[in-house]
Amino acid sequence: MNPTPPATQRPERPPRQEKELSGWGRHPVVRAEELESEDLARASRDAVLSRGLGRSYGDASLPVGGAALNTRRADRILGFDPATGVLRAEAGFSLQALNAIFPARGFATPVSPGTQYVTLGGMVASDVHGKNHHVAGCIGEHVRALRMRIADGRVLDISEESEPELFRATLGGMGLTGHLLEVELTLERIPSFWIHQHSRRVANLDELHDAMREASAQWPFSMAWLDTTARGASLGRGIVIVGRYAGEDEAPADIPQMRERIAVPFDLPSWFVARWSIELFNFLYYRWHGAREQEGIVHPQSFFYPLDAIRHWNRLYGKRGFVQYQCVVPTGERPTAFRKLLEIMSQHGGASPVSVIKDCGAAGRGTLSFPMPGMSLALDIPYRPGRTEALVDALNEQVIEAGGRIYLTKDALTKRAHFERMETRLPAWREVRRKWDPEGRFASALSRRLLDETP
Ligand SMILES: Cc1cc2nc3c(=O)[nH]c(=O)nc-3n(C[C@H](O)[C@H](O)[C@H](O)COP(=O)(O)OP(=O)(O)OC[C@H]3O[C@@H](n4cnc5c(N)ncnc54)[C@H](O)[C@@H]3O)c2cc1C
Repeated sequence: MNPTPPATQRPERPPRQEKELSGWGRHPVVRAEELESEDLARASRDAVLSRGLGRSYGDASLPVGGAALNTRRADRILGFDPATGVLRAEAGFSLQALNAIFPARGFATPVSPGTQYVTLGGMVASDVHGKNHHVAGCIGEHVRALRMRIADGRVLDISEESEPELFRATLGGMGLTGHLLEVELTLERIPSFWIHQHSRRVANLDELHDAMREASAQWPFSMAWLDTTARGASLGRGIVIVGRYAGEDEAPADIPQMRERIAVPFDLPSWFVARWSIELFNFLYYRWHGAREQEGIVHPQSFFYPLDAIRHWNRLYGKRGFVQYQCVVPTGERPTAFRKLLEIMSQHGGASPVSVIKDCGAAGRGTLSFPMPGMSLALDIPYRPGRTEALVDALNEQVIEAGGRIYLTKDALTKRAHFERMETRLPAWREVRRKWDPEGRFASALSRRLLDETP
């Protein structure tokens, strides 16, 4: 395939006034300037942070002390080699665009987060993982090279070979080592873009834990939805969903078209996500699956990105927004730490309609990347001032005790003291940052809260 020609000749827009910016959870909200340009190399001189499609949940994409550079207009493909699957594109190229072009040609991203509304730059800066972390690792394992503007103004081409420290600190570095301008990664060859999916209900946490272990040994994609409102003998019940790309012989002949989306038109009232309504939703969802195992060929969108079916679904949580709390803890023979996390959730009256468990494989090469061997738990929690902070504190205490850690791209409320206790790699990452950005040019609300040497 030829590289796409310069896509647009739109004039550069003048810098905008300050506006409200937030992550996907809509808490917190800041006022800041957001620049937009299709020339990232030029515009990145004037910004303290890059921002993609704003799908990180908390404060990772919120600039401090200057403007954010929104990268979405820099979305050109710069080169693709079908012999090797190596793709080079601008950092604002989205996964949605990738999915619209490459699966029809037999290639897909090797790692996909649970939404396709993300940019390549955002994927690298968070070092995202997917349902296949236990076999494919994070996206950083598939990145060959990066072009970035660093703090002293230079534009560098870096790789594991040329600048290993900076390269590793940038994978999962939350945009704080520089502006990513271009990303080069290797796509995976796929037999079809359809998915052979298998799912089954499990009655409690022990069953869920065993089913996930079994699934990961056999399937490239695995995850579980968890009913966080179930208690007693049913604590930890859920639905385990596994899959693989369908073979050419079993996939429908046509290429799956991306579907139209329905939208949530406005912010819903806060009672919509009260504990009782979440309890009802979870109960119905669990029952709806039925006791029988289910198997079939499904559309990739419903397998990889079920929430993308509803535009603006974050409005379901009302104006106050929500936080996503994601942690990973090492799991031994029994899921003891998980049990405690669910009990804490219950004691604090917390409830989550979207709670996902994934199996994590070996830690990757990103200095601060999230996954480590164990199971990850992601909870969507409606934001209630004071109460949600107390819940996150209690969950973090348990994560520290279990030797786990949290995922920065989801976080909004973790305290610095907790983070420093759980993240033993932080001093090493700070040292690299000090070397490459001694004056702390790159800054976000997240870096001020957790990552900078002094707040
Ligand atoms: C429904 C949903 C499901 C999700 N599922 C998963 C999942 O399964 N696994 C997973 O790992 N994540 C998941 N995420 C999180 C998401 O993949 C990451 O937050 C991703 O970084 C968002 O990309 P973005 O382009 O929107 O970046 P933003 O949210 O705009 O920014 C995220 C971070 O990347 C930095 N950044 C963005 N672009 C650049 C650039 N060009 N140069 C330098 N830094 C940059 C920002 O400064 C910020 O720190 C999910 C999010 C949603 C909303």
